Amino acid sequence: MKIAIDGPAGAGKSTIARTLASRLSYLYIDTGAMYRALALKAIKAAIDINDPQQLVDLAFHTHISFLPDSQEQKVICDGEDVTADIRSPEVSSVVAQVAAHPAVREQMVRMQQDMARNHSVVMDGRDIGECVLPDADFKFFVTASLEERTRRRIKELQSKGYQVNEEDIRKDIEKRDYQDAHREVGALKILPDSIVIDTTDLTVEEAVTRIMSIIQGGAVIKDAL
Ligand code: C5P
Repeated sequence: MKIAIDGPAGAGKSTIARTLASRLSYLYIDTGAMYRALALKAIKAAIDINDPQQLVDLAFHTHISFLPDSQEQKVICDGEDVTADIRSPEVSSVVAQVAAHPAVREQMVRMQQDMARNHSVVMDGRDIGECVLPDADFKFFVTASLEERTRRRIKELQSKGYQVNEEDIRKDIEKRDYQDAHREVGALKILPDSIVIDTTDLTVEEAVTRIMSIIQGGAVIKDAL
């Protein structure tokens, strides 16, 4: 079983996907964390993020994996725990530029497909339904209003000890969404076979329940065919 969850920044995808994966005992793959880990490594190595060749070489020599944890899944890059560092505003502000290069995406998509092979997975990102798991059993597009997404991102950053300015966060989300939706390859979009879940007025639990009931209903229909 493959479940794809795409959507804009701050819509609650990761929390929903992680909860869903844990309820279903599937593997959870946070592809945004992978692009973030690469962006962090590029910043640390002072690599020009506008140079796709340098980024592709970097990605080729980067090993990213996930470790289950009671709170949030840990992200390990080349043996180092980067779970906290990849969420920094600095990484958020450059990651969409890193992810815009088609050659970088090609390599990341290959890594993500390898991770999903031979597993039931819940995978979240921007291009999962279109590029990574085009044959997914279910494709969800999880979204929320810009105001609500800004509010959630501020709460998340504050809980991690960052000082934040509301206007900066809103602008960063808008800019990232625009870049993600307007790139050449793997652009963020609602696919004809995506099921849209608007979480603006939903709690995580309500969103997960809604998705679970769609999956269970769909699975019953598939079995009957
Ligand atoms: O999901 P998250 O907001 O952490 O993703 C960070 C960034 O990584 C996105 O804004 C996007 O630029 C990039 N990304 C992507 N394709 C994916 C997942 C994330 O381009 N499948």
